[in-house]
Amino acid sequence: MPARNILVINCGSSSIKFALVNEAHSQFALSGLAERLGSHEAVLHWQRGGERDSLMIPNADHRAALAQLLPLVHGAAGGKLHGIGHRVVHGGERFTSARKIDAQVVAAIQATAPLAPLHNPANLLGIEAAIRLYPNLTQVAVFDTAFHQTLPEYAYRYALPEPLYREHGVRRYGFHGTSHRYVSHRAAELAGLALGDSSWLSAHLGNGCSTCAIVNGQSRDTSMGLTPLEGLAMGTRSGDVDPNLHSHLARTLGWSLEQIERMLNHDSGLQGLSGLSHDMRSLEQAREQGHAGATLAIEVFCYRLAKSLAAMSCALPQLDGLIFTGGIGENSALVRSKTVAHLKLLNLALDPQANARCIRGVAGPIQAYGHPRVLVVPTNEERQIALDTLALLTN
Ligand code: AMP
Repeated sequence: MPARNILVINCGSSSIKFALVNEAHSQFALSGLAERLGSHEAVLHWQRGGERDSLMIPNADHRAALAQLLPLVHGAAGGKLHGIGHRVVHGGERFTSARKIDAQVVAAIQATAPLAPLHNPANLLGIEAAIRLYPNLTQVAVFDTAFHQTLPEYAYRYALPEPLYREHGVRRYGFHGTSHRYVSHRAAELAGLALGDSSWLSAHLGNGCSTCAIVNGQSRDTSMGLTPLEGLAMGTRSGDVDPNLHSHLARTLGWSLEQIERMLNHDSGLQGLSGLSHDMRSLEQAREQGHAGATLAIEVFCYRLAKSLAAMSCALPQLDGLIFTGGIGENSALVRSKTVAHLKLLNLALDPQANARCIRGVAGPIQAYGHPRVLVVPTNEERQIALDTLALLTN
């Protein structure tokens, strides 16, 4: 059988990220982004081989953008596209793994929208547009939450009145599952361990950040909760705050729910602490020039990350390794070393040269000799989504 091609789609409310994954090649045959959809400035950017190109697509919606993409995909796939994998943020308790999309699955994604009001409707826009354009192709939904459906109840329940869980689904779900799953598989391969008999801590550090405890290939705890706001300090998200903060701000400053939500999601985290940027690269540069806000933001980020990893270690029978991934985890030797410095009680320590070497896609172990394994593992959510889609094609 010739190697198969899967188009992976990740739809936001006004954007579509896409990648064409061939099962036999590690590089994407085509990848890109359609953004500002629905506006006069709508634009499609793509990369094929070493070539980059763009096309203005004024007022294009999701369907029009996907239609523009069609000839590019067919060109890059040599006319042979075998399936489409869609990233879907929230699968609630209904989805514990990837699923072939049919009317029931679409209805269930719709029904879960109250838990992810910004994301699931956008994901559905992409699914509906792709089904109209490719009615005969197998389409698969891969859920960010599905991997965490193995959490034990004592890890996923909040200490809140029971009806809020039973009747309204208020519980911890966790996100970034596709990434934590992918890197734990890769880590086991790199370490020469069987995934089914290994225990990992994983830190996905991008614009959104989360930690995860993975035992024998299953998620046992994770730092994000009902929404992706819980847990670590992130690019613009606060992570954990005192739950009374809402009422405090409403009472003392008269802020509305919308104002508070905006502040916690968009003006906090690295951005809020530094007063400068949500971007770790910029903060590292500013820190070198003595910027106090950038210095503090990095300290808070690393300390809270270390605290979360220590908490996650409660879910492990033993530690086979700590995994760093995501834009920050894969590139910031500074964040890795500051974080690990707080984890002496787990006996973690880094080899400074190995830590400095593992950047820009270089994977590998970075622990000091004689200490527990610490690995840098570049994530590849698109590839994992393509693998899940391929598995359902074969079935
Ligand atoms: P992601 O969402 O996975 O693309 O990650 C984005 C984050 O990774 C941003 O905070 C970037 O500043 C950070 N990042 C990317 N490259 C580097 C780098 N070389 N050093 C530090 N942070 C980086």
